Amino acid sequence: HRNRPNSEALYKQALEHIVGGVNSPSRSYKAVGGGAPVFMKRAEGAYFWDVDDNRYIDYLAAYGPIITGHAHPHITEAIVRAASNGTLYGTPTELEITLARMLKEAIPSMDKVRFVNSGTEAVMTTIRVARAYTKRNKIIKFAGCYHGHSDLVLVAAGSGPSTLGIPDSAGIPTSIAHEVITVPFNDLTALEQALERWGSDTAAVMVEPIVGNFGMVMPHEGFLEGLCKLTRDAGALVIYDEVISAFRFHYGSSQTFSAFPDHAAIEPDLTALGKIIGGGLPIGAYGGRREIMEQVAPLGPAYQAGTMAGNPASISAGIACLEVLREPGIYDRMDALAGKLAAGLTDAASQHGIPLTINKIRGSFSAHFCDHLVTNYEEAQDTDGERFGHFFRLMLDQGINLAPSKYEAWFLTTAHTEADIDQTIEAARVAMAALK
Ligand code: PMP
Repeated sequence: HRNRPNSEALYKQALEHIVGGVNSPSRSYKAVGGGAPVFMKRAEGAYFWDVDDNRYIDYLAAYGPIITGHAHPHITEAIVRAASNGTLYGTPTELEITLARMLKEAIPSMDKVRFVNSGTEAVMTTIRVARAYTKRNKIIKFAGCYHGHSDLVLVAAGSGPSTLGIPDSAGIPTSIAHEVITVPFNDLTALEQALERWGSDTAAVMVEPIVGNFGMVMPHEGFLEGLCKLTRDAGALVIYDEVISAFRFHYGSSQTFSAFPDHAAIEPDLTALGKIIGGGLPIGAYGGRREIMEQVAPLGPAYQAGTMAGNPASISAGIACLEVLREPGIYDRMDALAGKLAAGLTDAASQHGIPLTINKIRGSFSAHFCDHLVTNYEEAQDTDGERFGHFFRLMLDQGINLAPSKYEAWFLTTAHTEADIDQTIEAARVAMAALK
């Protein structure tokens, strides 16, 4: 695994033609010391093969969507069937109704659904719809939560709990960032202060109900209940970004997750979806209360459209993926494997006195190289990035593929086996010994 000449060569070519050599910055190895990312050529089940014929056990799962493992036969078959019937019609199909029904059954707060092509689009549109419905402009979000790369949500916190946002990217006008207020996750007091100051201008509070973007982080008991109450008291809408969390922990979203601290009390007005619901093909969806969704064209004044939206291949892959996930015992099995792996990692780290904080939620977990709990972005930032970078490479060189980011979760899939977990723990023991 240490020898990857073909990846090196392809990276050189990619750099000539594709900006930064990658089509999403998260794929670059910039955060883990740089160099050529591994170029994969094939994936099946829990495994990847790179262009140098090395095999890897995969815990990236393409940043979440690949929960059934790569090239799952049921999904592949659905995609092939869809492709051979024509890839794009520009007309409605029955398939769209089927997936919309499945989503509504699993996430009852969604009276109406609309399909788009990515999580970014789904989130972006929920904001437009919330603004159309409330006739207000401001958005409150939480530090460290990622909601895609659209202007409004790529905004970081200003210098105090109740300050206007600053752009997180070049190319975002300050005037737009000023429509966004960023507060710490799990901090109801900060939210209350922000709403006191900006509440009457606030269209929506946007949150990842279970955070997946600075580690896997559960809301404190009462946080979402308080968030919903404060937000509604201010006349604003609650938007859940469940692009990562829906169908990740059980068949449904965090809104119906029994392990959730106060799941019964919380229903958002709008929900954004993506990733798993497309079975590995591009997809996004959003939905919510009927009268809010009726703001959307052609019924209402909020415009949203898409040439590729609801395309038969993505929708078919999504239906097939959810069908696999409906099989009994699927989530318990991923949970058990994640538990074994998390215990193995904890043990390996503690043997060498390396601080490691694991946040496990069912079949996925984050592993922060730090010595305290991680409940918000500030705490997550204490993660030792340099150490993670070394760990990442030591694991890669032993055939274990993780996300090249100190925050990203490890995702188990239905394809991982006990033997994969054993091999991964063994690799982690070697890596931790070397780190020390
Ligand atoms: N919301 C969340 C919570 C996400 O994690 C992501 C992607 N990581 C997005 C939105 C954006 O989705 P996409 O990459 O499909 O645009």
